[in-house]
Amino acid sequence: MPELVARVKQLAHTYTPDTVQVRRHIHANPELSFEEHNTAAYVRSVLEGYGLEPVAMAETGLVALVQGRNPEKRTIALRADLDALPIMEANEVAYKSKKDGVMHACGHDVHTASLLGAARILQEMRGEFEGTVKLIFQPGEEKFPGGASLMIREGVLQNPAPAQILGQHVFPMLPAGKVGFRAGMYMASADEIYITVKGKGGHAAMPEQNVDTVLIASHLIVAMQQIVSRHASPKVPSVLSFGKVEAKGATNVIPNEVKIEGTFRTMNEVWREEAHKRIKKLAEGLCESMGGSCEIDIKKGYPFLKNDPSLTERTRAAAEAYLGAENVVDLDLWMGAEDFAYYSQEVPACFYRLGTRNEARGIVSSVHTPTFDIDEAALETSIGLMAYAALQELAAKA
Ligand SMILES: [Zn+2]
Ligand SMILES: [Zn+2]
Repeated sequence: MPELVARVKQLAHTYTPDTVQVRRHIHANPELSFEEHNTAAYVRSVLEGYGLEPVAMAETGLVALVQGRNPEKRTIALRADLDALPIMEANEVAYKSKKDGVMHACGHDVHTASLLGAARILQEMRGEFEGTVKLIFQPGEEKFPGGASLMIREGVLQNPAPAQILGQHVFPMLPAGKVGFRAGMYMASADEIYITVKGKGGHAAMPEQNVDTVLIASHLIVAMQQIVSRHASPKVPSVLSFGKVEAKGATNVIPNEVKIEGTFRTMNEVWREEAHKRIKKLAEGLCESMGGSCEIDIKKGYPFLKNDPSLTERTRAAAEAYLGAENVVDLDLWMGAEDFAYYSQEVPACFYRLGTRNEARGIVSSVHTPTFDIDEAALETSIGLMAYAALQELAAKA
């Protein structure tokens, strides 16, 4: 085993019990997006305990620098998110959420504890590497406009500017001890579409006197599918789904308006803009051609997440060296969204997945469910790999 791998593994092993306690503390005391005041205070106290000097950003976010020798040489950023979800925890565990209706059901407790553990390893090793590791603890990943966008606006990618950024996310489909990577397109942009079809309501028995909003809306939903099937390149994943249709008429009443709500997801920012224009144009043209009109509002969510190919290749190689090739897997595309995507639009980024599953112990629930939990053995993998990947990247030529 190379010396550096052995050194990091030994520190990761030493710091894992503390990392478990940190994770349990955060898990038991969850806070909703942009309300992470106590979590931020706790993270601050842990960082200060390591001799670091965190600075507040975006109200409940924190940034800290671990400086090695020659700190100006190069900076790499590591990111974690702090927020929990409005879910009532159903796990009966010692570290169960103490707040009714709030739960770390997306593993952000794991990400935060892991970044603290990695920071401790790096701080311990600060005389053994050159450059700076920027620790980013951001608020509000789960809620629009996303803490990442606020942190970027407040300058998290400046002074010092990181050359690369790494982030990780728990992945209950993958066993603890393993990690997954995907270069290039990985996660989707997500935009919300709100359309109100307007016509002329009236008695359903007298269609000649009405402009049938239900019929127009039905045509519209069908016609919209052609935007994805006929205009999106087959090489760019795109999804357009309408999950809410509201026509408050009756068996014999045509309503004055029908509301349609949906989501548009894709993995190309140019196509994303074009699709928005096409959705608007089609909705307006079709409604008009059928004698009605429409109001359309597209709320832009997170951009698509792209993993820089060469950074991902290097980080993946670091994972193979640290964990063994048998513990590193390829990930599939994922049409979910994640606000780490904002960083990936600004600097070369790699967002990888941390396996947290343990089938034998029944730890298999998906994120965003009341029974989500992790095999805490994943924490040792997580803190060591994050520190090792950062060290490898600081030493890389790119
Ligand atoms: Zn989530
Ligand atoms: Zn998440």
